[in-house]
Amino acid sequence: MSRLRTELGIISRTGWIVAAIVWVSFTFLMVLVGKPNDPPPPVRALMTIIVPIPLTVFALLVSYVNADARRRGMRHVMWTLLAVFVPNGIGIILYFILREPLITACPGCGQAVRGGFAFCPHCGAGLQKSCPQCHKLVEPGWSACAYCGARQ
Ligand SMILES: [Zn+2]
Ligand SMILES: [Zn+2]
Repeated sequence: MSRLRTELGIISRTGWIVAAIVWVSFTFLMVLVGKPNDPPPPVRALMTIIVPIPLTVFALLVSYVNADARRRGMRHVMWTLLAVFVPNGIGIILYFILREPLITACPGCGQAVRGGFAFCPHCGAGLQKSCPQCHKLVEPGWSACAYCGARQ
């Protein structure tokens, strides 16, 4: 849950406001199109609240894609448009498949470095454990390098 909360934390205030506007306007729309006495009022009241929720979640997901693409140094405008306009949420699904690793700061020089690198491309500082022989990334728990077979 705390990870989800951290992830939701990157959604900008504008994103939350847009989602709130989506929810309020669709709730109003539901009230406006509701025919009197059909279905019975309690059911209608429940529908009025529940039906706009998927759209609100969609608005929040789009805001998340926007903020997340920006922090990963990806083309966030393009991805936001894809998330909104590709039908059935396929733009959003594509984003989660294709998104690049998080950008971190190099401990050596402080420059922004894409995640998944073994060495900093700016100063050469070691970012993650790498093989002493071929210098490729070694995952924790490996006792031999998966690329050249050198013992770790
Ligand atoms: Zn560096
Ligand atoms: Zn190796």
